[in-house]
Formats: sequence, C-alpha cells, structure tokens
Amino acid sequence: GARSQPDYLVRLNSEQRLAVETTEGPVLVLAGAGTGKTRVLTTRIGHLLATGKARPSQILAVTFTNKAAREMRHRIGDLIGPAVEGMAWLGTFHSIGVRILRRHAEMVGLKPNFTILDADDQVRLMKQVIQAEGIDEKRWPAKQLAGLIDSWKNRGLSPKDVPPGDGGGFASGKALKLYAAYQDRMKVLNACDFGDLLLENLRLFREHPDVLAEYHQRFQYMLVDEYQDTNVAQYLWLRLLAQGRRNICCVGDDDQSIYGWRGAEVDNILRFEKDFPGAVVIRLERNYRSTSHILGAASHLITHNEGRLGKTLFTDATDPDAAKVQVASSWDSEEEARAVGEEIETLQRRGHALNEMAILVRASFQMRSFEERFIQLGLSYRVIGGPRFYERQEIRDALAYLRIVMQPGDDLAFERIVNTPRRGIGETTVRLLHDHARARQIPILQAAEELTLTSEIGAKARTSLRDLVAAFARWRGKLGVIKHTELAEIILDESGYTEMWQQDRSADAPGRLDNLKELIRSMEEFESLEGFLEHIALVMDRDSADSNDAVSIMTLHSAKGLEFETVFLPGWEEGLFPSQRTLDESGRAGLEEERRLAYVGITRAKQRALIWFASNRRIHGLWQSSVPSRFLDELPDKHVDVVEQTSSYGGYNVGGVGNYGASRFDRADPFANTYSTPGWQRAQKNRAAGTQSTSRGASRLIEGELIAKSTGPSSAYACGERVFHQKFGYGTILEIEGNKLTVDFATGPKKVVDSFVSRG
Ligand code: ATP
Ligand code: MG
Repeated sequence: GARSQPDYLVRLNSEQRLAVETTEGPVLVLAGAGTGKTRVLTTRIGHLLATGKARPSQILAVTFTNKAAREMRHRIGDLIGPAVEGMAWLGTFHSIGVRILRRHAEMVGLKPNFTILDADDQVRLMKQVIQAEGIDEKRWPAKQLAGLIDSWKNRGLSPKDVPPGDGGGFASGKALKLYAAYQDRMKVLNACDFGDLLLENLRLFREHPDVLAEYHQRFQYMLVDEYQDTNVAQYLWLRLLAQGRRNICCVGDDDQSIYGWRGAEVDNILRFEKDFPGAVVIRLERNYRSTSHILGAASHLITHNEGRLGKTLFTDATDPDAAKVQVASSWDSEEEARAVGEEIETLQRRGHALNEMAILVRASFQMRSFEERFIQLGLSYRVIGGPRFYERQEIRDALAYLRIVMQPGDDLAFERIVNTPRRGIGETTVRLLHDHARARQIPILQAAEELTLTSEIGAKARTSLRDLVAAFARWRGKLGVIKHTELAEIILDESGYTEMWQQDRSADAPGRLDNLKELIRSMEEFESLEGFLEHIALVMDRDSADSNDAVSIMTLHSAKGLEFETVFLPGWEEGLFPSQRTLDESGRAGLEEERRLAYVGITRAKQRALIWFASNRRIHGLWQSSVPSRFLDELPDKHVDVVEQTSSYGGYNVGGVGNYGASRFDRADPFANTYSTPGWQRAQKNRAAGTQSTSRGASRLIEGELIAKSTGPSSAYACGERVFHQKFGYGTILEIEGNKLTVDFATGPKKVVDSFVSRG
C-alpha cells in the first residue's frame, strides 16, 4: 500500500511512478511542458540509489545546460543527501564528453592535456588552413567554413564520412579537403574544438570496443533530459553507450524542440523506438505547473503546427480567480519597458518575490530597454545566459570607439579596439606604444601618432596605426557637426567594425549586429554623444552584485526547463517574433520552430503570463509601425484578456483577439509610417536618465585638440651622439626633430623616438 512506499514515490502520479519504477530496459517519456519530466528524472536517480540498484558513479545523467545540471544535483541531494557528491557523470553532453576524452586521449592521437579551442582560435586556424591551400580567404571566409564543419560535426561526420559533394559550394568543392586538413592541424597542436568532443568520443568507441565495453560496464543506468534537442552526434553517442545495458531513460517534448538551427533533430524521438525495440513509452498528461488559462492558451497555440506527435494536456488547477493570459500593447519598446516595470512594482507591493518573475525576449537586443528601466527604478535584475546589454563584447567594442572620439586619453578603450577588427597591430606593437606612452606620460593614442612617424614599428602595423590615428582625428572633427547617431554609424562603418560582424558566419553574429543597431537606437534618446556616454558610465557603474531577489531577464531559448510565477513576454511583433530571419532562412519549418518557442515561453508561467507588442519601433531615428505577431491571433479568446489601453501618446486602442490585422492596426496608428522623435520627448528622457551637458565635455574636447597638436618636448640628445636602441642596436644620431631622432644604425638610418634609446 501507499504507506509502505518511500516518500519520494508518493509525490508522483501513477504514470510518473511507472516511469521511475521501470528501471530496466529503454524508457521514453514523451510529454508536454510542466508535466514533471524533470521531476521524474530526478526521482528516478534517487530511486536507483535508494534501492541499491546503482552507485552514484554508475549513473550517467545528461542535462542541456550546466545550470540544469547544478539544479538537478541540488534536487537529488535533497533526496539522497551527501551521496550525491559521487555523481561524477551528471552534466552536459560536452562536459561528459571532455571527461571521457581526457581519459583516453592517446587513443585518438591527443595528449590528455589537450586544449579546447574557442570560436576565435578555431577561425584563426581555419584561416591558416585556407591560406595554406592557396584559396582566397576573402572570397571564402574562414567563418563560413567553420559553420560548415560544425554542421558536419553535429551530424557525427568525420572527414571520411562526409558524403561526396556535401558542402560543394564552398571553395569550388574543396571544403572537405579543408576539413581534413583542419583536423590534422589540430592534432599537431594537441587541440580539439567543441564539436570534436563528441566526434572523438564516437571514434574512440567505434575503434576501441574494449573501451566502449568498459563504459557499458560502468554506466548501469542512463538518463537524458530535454531529449528533443539532441543532435545526431549526441544521439549516436547515446546509442553506442546504451547498447550495453539498454537501461536508458529519455524525457522530452517534441513541442519544445527549439534548437533546429543547431542541428537538433526531432526525428531522434521517432528513431528511439526503432533503435530500442520494446521501449516503454510513457505519456504524462497532467500539468502541475500552470493555471488552466495559461495551459489552454499554450496548447491551442501549438495546435497550429503541423509536424507534431500530438498529445493532450490538462491541469487540475481550478483557481476561479486565475488570471487569463494578458495581451497589451505599447507605443514603443521604451513604453513597453515602463509598463512591465509598473506591473512588477505592483506585484512586488502585493508581496510577490522578484525571483518569481521573468522577462523572456526573442532577441537579446530587446533586453536593453528593460535593463535601463529597471536601473532607473532601482529594481534588481539578473541577465541569465549572457552578459548584460552594455557588457556584451560588441557593445563594449563600439563604446570603446565612441569613448576615444570623446576623450582621446582613454587608453583602456584604445587598447581594446586597436586591433579589433584585426589590423595587423600585434602585441609587440602595443607594448611599444605602452612603453612610449609611459615614458612620455602621454595617452597611448598620442604615442601611436608619434610612433607612426618613426621606424620603431614594422611597416604594416605602422600603416594601420597611421590610418587609425587619422580616422580618430577625422571622427573627432565631426563631433558636434553631424548628429551623434550618424557619427556613431560612420565610426562603426569606417573602422571596419560592422563589417567584421557581417563577415562573421557564426550563429551569434546576426544577434550582435542587432545589438549594435539597438545601441545606435538607444543613443537617439540623448542630445549628444557626451550625454549618452555619461549615461552609460552611470549604468555600467552600478553595483553588479545582485541581491538574491531579482527579476530574471533572458532569451526564450535559455528559459527552457525553468518556471516562474509571472512571465512577461514582450515584443510579439511580426519580424521580431516570429523572427524574420528564421522565416527567410527556414520557411514553414522555421515558423513552426518559432511557434514552439512561443509555446515554451508561455508554459514557463505558473500563475501569470503577460504578452506585449509595441506598435512602433524606431529605426534610424524614424518611427516604423510594426504588425502584431500572428501568434497573437492564434491564441484562443477564452483564455486571453486583451487590455484596452490608451497610449500615453493618445493615439490608438487595441481591438479584440483575432483582430490584430495589419489593416486595422494601420488605420489606428495616427502617425503613419514615419515620424521623428519630438524634441520635447527626447529632452524629457534625458532628464529622466539624469543626464545633462556639463562643462566637462568642453574641457575634454580641448584636451583632444591639445593632444592632436602636441609635438612633445625637444630631445635631450645631441647630433652625433651614440645611442643604443632595443631593436636596432647601436647607432649615431644624424638629426633631431623634437623628440624624434634620425639615427644611423648598422642596418641604415631609422627614425626613432628618444624614449626608446639610451646613451650608448
Ligand atoms: P518542462 O517541459 O518545462 O521541462 P517538465 O515536464 O520537466 O517541464 P517539471 O519541471 O519536472 O516539468 O515539473 C513542473 C512542475 O510541476 C514543478 O514545479 C514540479 O515540482 C511540479 N510537479 C511535477 N510532478 C508533480 C506531482 N506529481 N505533484 C506535484 N507537483 C509536481
Ligand atoms: Mg523539464
């Protein structure tokens, strides 16, 4: 009877219990969001340990993220206590893959201390390989090859397995040859890239059956969460390992498959039953997470997808006061952030914890307006799965350029971008700049200017440096002459920075370009570059140590598996969500994946889901009206409340569900298609952000001019004097011009700066 059962089993329904107690043989749990799949996995591990069927080290458990692994470890710890420490094989595919590979590195031609290349190293190496083959790297960029090779690796294909003709478009059919050369090169360097981790595991298992047998012996039980998002390589890896004991339990939800662009295949779910005949398939239908409105809205939305395995979901939650899913509109993203901020503060006043609230965005650039609003309100927040907006690499790079224009003495900024994008200004050159700047106590930019007049620096770096110095002088000359947003665009274009990301073929490059656009957009709210940078300094200066209670901001992708009482879903507009890029690249399949993402978003909510769409987005200083997402039309009336709301700009009302058509919307929009920001509004925003022009701006400018004109003190040396130079050796001074010396070295006369020579 129930009384004799351990506590942890009593906390499960009968299907869940079946999934926990069917310990032997393959088990597939296929079930919708919030039905307790992850709880089943955790409990199953607890059960295996409690019944003595396995020791902690004999269980392989795969989660999708490291965060999820930590969470699971924590929950298992609650069930079994300190024994959880022994669970050495609980982690992501990658973390487990590395662990295995290090133990047998020699068998695949690596040393156990092999390095794992990051994306940058990977591309640099590919560039070398491309050049070594005599292929024009400009025409066939390394980034593109990297994407191709990654997709092969995701499919579990080593060079010898790639079907002939695959990737044929790249470098006139040489892609495969380059792939092989790249792999060889990595072996020489005792390195592998991310994609190799599992690929080398596969090779290891296939070529060394004894090793595989060892793992069959070791892993008595295998468990996999978020199974719908495994790619082919991961699937093959699981299949090889599971062939031993066949005790594998996978849980997943085809409606939550959202990583197709990374090579995940829902087909793996269908293959499971074929590859593991006799598998027990368990369906969980009761949702324990959400109210009936939330579940009803999400379930109905997802029925618009065709490629589904199909399932029913119900909840026993019967709170008569439960809120419907709320849909509201705002004027633009700033107003959206204000409205969300207000909702959060209201909930907070009613005693709701910030920890139980999350804002889930489609694209990371959307985070900016929320972060700024929360800073203004003093609301604690944390950005999950990535840095805060202004801390992102591309934003910091762009800001560095702007800071130097504003203040040429900003050495940190200069060092950050001096070789970004790559200009052939290497570490040695930067060190020289440093030494010179220190010796003369001048900013590095000025040191650069001076050194380009001499022969200290190699010819190529010198030309690049000279161009860069000249560019900064040119940009500074435009300060206050043209609009600051325009100047920022010019800087990012002329410096080659935007192009660097345009050339970049990695998956996150488009998002970075969007972030740069959002940066320019956010500058619109300020009168000047100065005002904007001051605002940024304040935003960045904020204490980054968050209190424990904080609102979470994250992308929909990183929200998988999580749950919150209240979920805010902003930006439901055509082009943003569903994302235009996905529609363009993957058509119907892409649309279905976007819809699954919407399903994931809504089903994160336990009590409240609030959806927003902005009527306008500002692009290049012009208002453009946006069309509400088609997903709004796909929500069922009976579970949705449309908030009638008159915008503070007095423009329009929102119709009922199913009435978001663009035509109606356009008619309601009083501002037609384009509309520039009214001056008063900008001024108001500047005031709100606490920025004001100060006299500091002027002095910085003067400083800039001073630096540009400065020639430095005259030299302490005299013509005919013998000097020693680190790089060129001994020589005799021929000519002195300020602090620049022309010295006759053994290798011929060179121009050098006096701070680099000593009396010889
Ligand atoms: P997702 O698909 O979003 O990953 P899931 O299927 O993994 O969801 P869980 O996160 O395991 O679902 O569970 C959802 C919520 O329901 C959790 O808060 C969990 O604690 C709770 N829950 C699961 N099963 C039960 C149960 N039998 N009784 C009470 N609560 C449960
Ligand atoms: Mg889960």
